[in-house]
Amino acid sequence: MKSGLIVSKIRNGTVIDHIPAGRALAVLKVLGIKGIEGYRIALVMNAESSKMGKKDILKIEDREIEEKEAELITLIAPDATINIIKDYEVVGKRKQEIPQEVVGLLRCTNPSCITNNDVEAVTRFRTIKRKPLQLACEYCETRLTEDEVVRQILG
Ligand SMILES: [Zn+2]
Repeated sequence: MKSGLIVSKIRNGTVIDHIPAGRALAVLKVLGIKGIEGYRIALVMNAESSKMGKKDILKIEDREIEEKEAELITLIAPDATINIIKDYEVVGKRKQEIPQEVVGLLRCTNPSCITNNDVEAVTRFRTIKRKPLQLACEYCETRLTEDEVVRQILG
């Protein structure tokens, strides 16, 4: 291990590695983790990575990331590795699959879209491109880029 920030291994939980630098907070947001839930969380930002230059790492104790959550993480961290840890060992990996559909999480940027005018309407985007990410609103076809998705999640 390189010198600098040493983060100890976790006994049970999830380790998310290879998050693009600066996006660890967006990952926590996608998971709905605010810090008040009581999970012990280690967050390393801008760590050196031979593969990526710089990266973020997130370790969340006693919280197992579900497949559906892993899909949402893929939206903002397409090359992240998500390992489930039990008794200090990796017992599972979550596949990195961009969801075909994103329901409720994002906002349509078109002010006249029904989802911005009917309080009961739930936003619904389908994936039309993976790299770089592009989503389309099911109601008005407005496109969302990866930057917009990250901006909204952090916003
Ligand atoms: Zn729309």
